[in-house]
Amino acid sequence: MHERVSTFLERMYRLKRVPQALLFYGKEGIGKKTMAFDFSKALLCIKGTFPACNTCPSCHYMNQFNQMPVEQLRVYSDKETGKKVFLYLQGEHPDFIYLQPEKDEIKIDQVRGVRDFLNLKPALSQKKVVLIAPAESMNPYSQNALLKTLEEPPQDTHFILVANNLNNLLSTVRSRCYLIEFKELSKEDIKKITGIKDEEILELCEGSITKANQLLQKTHIIKLARVALFGSPLELYNVSTQVEKMEYEDQKLFLQLLEIMLHKKLLQDKEKWEFYEPIIDRIAFVLDNLKRGIRLSLFLFYLNTSLTEVKK
Ligand SMILES: [Zn+2]
Repeated sequence: MHERVSTFLERMYRLKRVPQALLFYGKEGIGKKTMAFDFSKALLCIKGTFPACNTCPSCHYMNQFNQMPVEQLRVYSDKETGKKVFLYLQGEHPDFIYLQPEKDEIKIDQVRGVRDFLNLKPALSQKKVVLIAPAESMNPYSQNALLKTLEEPPQDTHFILVANNLNNLLSTVRSRCYLIEFKELSKEDIKKITGIKDEEILELCEGSITKANQLLQKTHIIKLARVALFGSPLELYNVSTQVEKMEYEDQKLFLQLLEIMLHKKLLQDKEKWEFYEPIIDRIAFVLDNLKRGIRLSLFLFYLNTSLTEVKK
């Protein structure tokens, strides 16, 4: 998987020319974070091998880290002072920081915590690594705070930023990083990694492992989406009542599936582009405004009627 990227990283590693700030970007759920973690492990490995040796104390702590439940890696409060402390030295590895959002954001205090860490000498490994994922969850204040560090990073520290969407990163942050693009995974890759054989899921997951696994748990939503688009009015009525009752996350997935399915339809039926395009735009609009309490049932009737028009 991602052999091109892996070979490239290995070469930089062997030549000892790893840039101090790397930015891995590409679609969500295709293994960027896993690769970033493995590369961090190699950078920190005491034996200095690529891939990491997996047996030295550094690798041992990194493996332990990976098994810790996410909740334990977040913020805690100092019991004595009651002050909120950002737990940036998560896990046992003294030279590794994994910065991730608290709720939805990576806050400026978390980034400031990293700056303190940079002043320390590596305690176990030769180097220190700061992994930030997803990097776009840093709000603009946090990004600006990070910027100062990226301008003059300490010699012994590497930053690895992982982003699903480059547009949400300040251009000043992007320009200080070495960009590495991760391509979408092929159906065969997804099949190999997840063991999923269902052709429809492989088709609908759009090259994302995360999405493929999510769909495997939610096959009933795939069915609902199919019926919503191509079913009879009576079937549609049933679907819309079910969709109205779903949780936000499921509604979101449902709408994403409508979008993907219609997009595939459009590709088969290109001369009808002008009919499909506004419908797909409309779905995207509803997706963006879902949290504002849009009545999905009404929208589904609009959708179904519009599609009947396309068929004529
Ligand atoms: Zn090692």
